[in-house]
Order: sequence, then structure tokens, then C-alpha cells
Amino acid sequence: IPTYQLMQQMRKSLLGKGVQILDRIQITELSHDENSPGWGALGFNIRNGEMVKMEARAVVLAAGGCSYRGPFFGQDVVSGEGLEMACRAGASLAYMEYGNHFNVSLKAFDTYGQSKFMAHGGKYINRNQEPFLETSGEGNRASGHIAVRRMVEEVERGRGPIYLDLRNFTEQDLVSKLMPNLDLLLHSSSLDFYGTPNEAIPGLTGTSNASGAGVLIDKNSRTSVPGLFAAGDNASKGVVTGACVGLSGISLAWANVTGYLAGKNAAEYASITERSPVINSTRGNGDGIYQPMSIKGTFHPREIIWRLSAIMGNAYVNIIKSEERLKRASHQCQQLKELLYHDTAVSSYHDLMVWYEAKSALFTANLTLEASRFRQETRGAHYREDFPEKNTSLEGRVLVASQANGQPELSYHHLSG
Ligand SMILES: Cc1cc2nc3c(=O)[nH]c(=O)nc-3n(C[C@H](O)[C@H](O)[C@H](O)COP(=O)(O)OP(=O)(O)OC[C@H]3O[C@@H](n4cnc5c(N)ncnc54)[C@H](O)[C@@H]3O)c2cc1C
Repeated sequence: IPTYQLMQQMRKSLLGKGVQILDRIQITELSHDENSPGWGALGFNIRNGEMVKMEARAVVLAAGGCSYRGPFFGQDVVSGEGLEMACRAGASLAYMEYGNHFNVSLKAFDTYGQSKFMAHGGKYINRNQEPFLETSGEGNRASGHIAVRRMVEEVERGRGPIYLDLRNFTEQDLVSKLMPNLDLLLHSSSLDFYGTPNEAIPGLTGTSNASGAGVLIDKNSRTSVPGLFAAGDNASKGVVTGACVGLSGISLAWANVTGYLAGKNAAEYASITERSPVINSTRGNGDGIYQPMSIKGTFHPREIIWRLSAIMGNAYVNIIKSEERLKRASHQCQQLKELLYHDTAVSSYHDLMVWYEAKSALFTANLTLEASRFRQETRGAHYREDFPEKNTSLEGRVLVASQANGQPELSYHHLSG
């Protein structure tokens, strides 16, 4: 069944069990005191601005990844707030250098489900009508990231643009069954989807979807901070996928398994933890969350995200990496941060929501770029043009980011458990 129906069913079932669901709330901050077991969460209603404070004995973070509100179907809702909140609450993040997931879409309109097309006779071809994935070793079933890197290389060699060729695709019925939204789009467009090769482009999805980056969890979905659990795209899939980005189909399975584990273990944790009073926000009584509305600037916060998306969506920053370009991108992010804090105009609660999204997207971008600079080797989807070889001394070691002293710190770890 389509996922929206699944969500409706889950909602009904939760309400039936007496679970309270708060809609239209953006959580901006988690608070936690090392000496007390409880958690606090602070946020606001994005329609009427009403402040929301919650207390909890355990928290499950399931706020997705960060796609920089990129130009790809369904990826315009996640901006890394869960990653930033976890890190600021003391949890570790991992595989941030693998926060470079790109999907492929038709240039004409957002088209998803590429892996299904490739598995049943679809091909990417270059301007000379040549399929080029065969040389990747994995052929047409290459992971998304490998496919995108090959596309970039084809374009570099003057053989772009790239086309999706479905003339030999055999499972048209599958599209209407598995991807009803896409099917509707196809029917309402004048595009000859199956009969003619159509131009295809990579679309940045960042740390969301089949990327490795996220909050480091153990096999019980626990983060490194007691009482804080993470699941789905919010949690680092790298612990199972390693350096491979773009493994199709892994993400929903990961969300199901880690969601189940996080829920079960958070409930157990809560049942043996004393209730503690609401912890004060780091912003006094919480009014500080509205502070961005007093910045008297000119940029809409959405413009900051667009600019950031262009930086992170640059193939020469996030696919084919080099110290020089990563450093430059980092500097550009710093400039955007200055704009966000000093030259934005936030005139509604909806804008305020976008402001916080821009803030977290910048946080995520910074960690992704710094982790990419730190890993001075090439491994899987982390391709450093200036360090093209694998560093064997890093075998089995994971790059972990934490923010123990206010500033992100990076170091390699051997993981266990
Ligand atoms: C077009 C498309 C096709 C896909 N196809 C497949 C597929 O075939 N197979 C597969 O395995 N995976 C697929 N994926 C990936 C898969 O959908 C995701 O990995 C999965 O949905 C992640 O689930 P999640 O619950 O962790 O996060 P999300 O679904 O991203 O949900 C996160 C939620 O948190 C909310 N949120 C974020 N920040 C805040 C905040 N500060 N306060 C309150 N709420 C917040 C967001 O609004 C969102 O509702 C696809 C993704 C897309 C976009």
C-alpha cells in the first residue's frame, strides 16, 4: 500500500492506544542534564507560534537526515535538525563524510525509483547512446553513488548529457503498483517516458535516504548519551553499510528495524528511570527560540538553504572531493552562517521554521565538509581526488564526530557493540 495510507493506519492505531500526537510542531532544542536522568524538548507550533515544552524520561530521535531541501521528490522536508540536536546534547555522529547521497532524477521533473528501473532493463546512456555503467564492475545494479560518479565522469569527458533509457524496461505494471505518485505524474506529462531516452540529472539527498551519515547508535539504537535513542535516517546507517552510499532499498528496512529497537529500548529505559522535572532550556524560559524574528536583515532564510544546497550539490565538492575545494566550501558555509545570524528577515512562524532548518543544514554541511577533509584517503563513496588510494591503517575504523567542548571534534574509533 502507498506509504501515506500506512501512516494513516499507524496514526489511527497510535491514537487508539492513547498516544498523544502533536502536529505542526518544530522541535528546536533538546535539553539534558548529565546529573539528572530526564530530558526536555523545546519547540513551537509553526502555524501560530505557540511555544511547546515537553519532558520525557527517554527520547527517540526520528527527525530524518539532511537533504538541504534539495531538488528531489520527497526530500524537501529534512534539514538535519535531529543531527544537530543530538550532537549538541552530547551524542556522537558518525560517517559524516558519507553524507553525500545523490539520487538520480529526470531533468524534466522529479522521478524516483531508479533502482527499480535499472533492475529490470533500464540503462543510463551518454550522448553517444552508449551505456557506461558496465565498466563499474557492478553494471546496471551499481549503487546510486557509483552511478552518479560515473555520470559526472562521462560529462567530464564531454559525453554528457546523460539519459535514462527505458526502451528495454520490462516491468511497467510494477511502476503503477509500487510508485503510484510517479505513475500519476507520468500520465499527466507529455513525456514519452518509456519510448525515448530522457535526460537525467543527479539530485542531492545529502545525509538522508541511503547515506551512511547520522547519529551513532549501538545495536539497541542507543546513542552515546543515556536516554537518547535514534532511528531511521536520523541514525548512522554506516554501521551496517560501511563506505557504500546509495544501496537501494536499505533505508526503509533500516528505519523499521532501528525504529522498533529504539521504541522498545526507550520504553524499557523510561520504565526504570525516575521522572524528572522539565529541564530549563538553555535559552532561559524558552523565549529565546523567537530571537531570529528580531534580526533586521534582508535575506529570506530559504535563500540561505538554496545557496547551501548549491554548495553541497556541487559534484566537485561532494562527489569528487579535494582539500582545496572542501576548504573553500567550508568557508562559503561560514559566510552563509554570518548571513543567517545577521542579515535574515523572519516575518512569520513559518519563516522561523525555515530559519531553524537553515541553521541545522549549515551545521550538517559543516560537519560533512570537515569530516571529508579529515579522512585523507579514498574509501567507497568518499572519493578524494588528492588522496586517491585507500589508507590501509584506517581499515575498520570509523570517523566519529562529537561536540564535547562546544566545537565539533573528529577522531577515528574502532566500533564494538
Ligand atoms: C522519493 C523517495 C523514494 C524512496 N524510495 C525508497 C525505497 O524504495 N526503498 C527504501 O528503502 N527507501 C526509500 N527511500 C528512503 C526512505 O523513504 C527514507 O529513508 C525513510 O523515509 C526515512 O524515514 P525516517 O522516518 O527516518 O525519516 P523521514 O521519513 O525523513 O521523517 C522525518 C520526519 O521528521 C520530521 N522532522 C524533521 N525535523 C523535525 C523537527 N525539528 N521537529 C519536528 N519534526 C521534525 C520531518 O518533517 C519528517 O516528518 C525513498 C525516499 C524518497 C524521498
